[in-house]
Amino acid sequence: MEVRDIFGKVFAGERIGRDEGLFLLKNADTTQMGSLADYVRRKHHPEGIVTFVADTNPNYTNVCDTECLFCAFWRPAGAHDSYTHSVDKVIEMMRTSYHNGATTVLLQGGHNPEITLDYYIEIIKRTKKEIPGLHLHAFSAPEISAIAKYSDLTTEEVLRRFWDAGLRTIPGGGAEVLSNRVRKKISPLKIDADQWMKVTREAHLTGFKTTATMMFGHFEEDEDILEHLDKIRALQDETGNFLAFIPWTFKPKNTFLERKLPNETGGDRYLRVLALSRIYLDNFVHIQGSWFTQGAKIGSLSMYYGASDLGGTLFDENVLCCAENKIRSTVDELVHMIRSAGFVPAQRDTYYQVLNRF
Ligand code: SF4
Repeated sequence: MEVRDIFGKVFAGERIGRDEGLFLLKNADTTQMGSLADYVRRKHHPEGIVTFVADTNPNYTNVCDTECLFCAFWRPAGAHDSYTHSVDKVIEMMRTSYHNGATTVLLQGGHNPEITLDYYIEIIKRTKKEIPGLHLHAFSAPEISAIAKYSDLTTEEVLRRFWDAGLRTIPGGGAEVLSNRVRKKISPLKIDADQWMKVTREAHLTGFKTTATMMFGHFEEDEDILEHLDKIRALQDETGNFLAFIPWTFKPKNTFLERKLPNETGGDRYLRVLALSRIYLDNFVHIQGSWFTQGAKIGSLSMYYGASDLGGTLFDENVLCCAENKIRSTVDELVHMIRSAGFVPAQRDTYYQVLNRF
């Protein structure tokens, strides 16, 4: 196998296989991967638009019984700095963000056995009724599984109840790397890769649109990255309900893994994986670049490695801010970042529809 043969396949519009993806990740130059990813991005987005969303990311609780080793956010029940917000408080936070210009709220939280199903249903219904201009994008697959477990329901039933209450999109969080070998090391109490895929498939079949994520840069091998990409590509073939793929890198600060893995994944590895994602996921319209974990410079470069979206403005990003990730950006800064890189900035909604070009 040669890198140029794989390039030839992509230029001919053919899908590459898992072995070929692995070969690229192991052997291609980073710049070679970038140019191929850029070719694929241009096929999907010939007009050169790069989008972002004005969003907010509050958390309703930091109490969690899943204790992921990579997570700096969770607290045990009863800890002095644990919290669970009332529905009123969550609505108030969302209303403030809406008045500050957010169009989407990405709402997630820990797995707190004390919270009942009614709490989630009330949040969904009240957001729709009281802040109709704000789109609620909430409750990842592991949260759905935890809610089902605590409520003695199936995940399908929880999804149906959420759909009937008015929820329409679900974030693709909690995927980390969809390889059970890796998950055992970083999140042994969390749902495994098969469960994540099952809940996401159920969500798609219920009618939800979701994103897919991947958090890498810990114990995964290249083979695990390909396993992850292959799983979500196959599900996208089946349902078509993934809106975007969002890879980002592990931030070790203040986590249980910090002593074993003190160094953050660098820009080169991030850009290689991003580029591979763009090349491999031929059935995804959008690949998202991660300016908030990699910083503005790599965020700018990400647009030349396959990213056609830069995610959100992320006010109230508690999970990452606890890992001392203090990077914040405003709409103006994102517009500047995109324009300076030579692309056309555009604000989008949760469905990746363009609202406003700059
Ligand atoms: S990543 Fe989510 S499930 Fe895991 S410990 Fe943190 S809050 Fe809990």
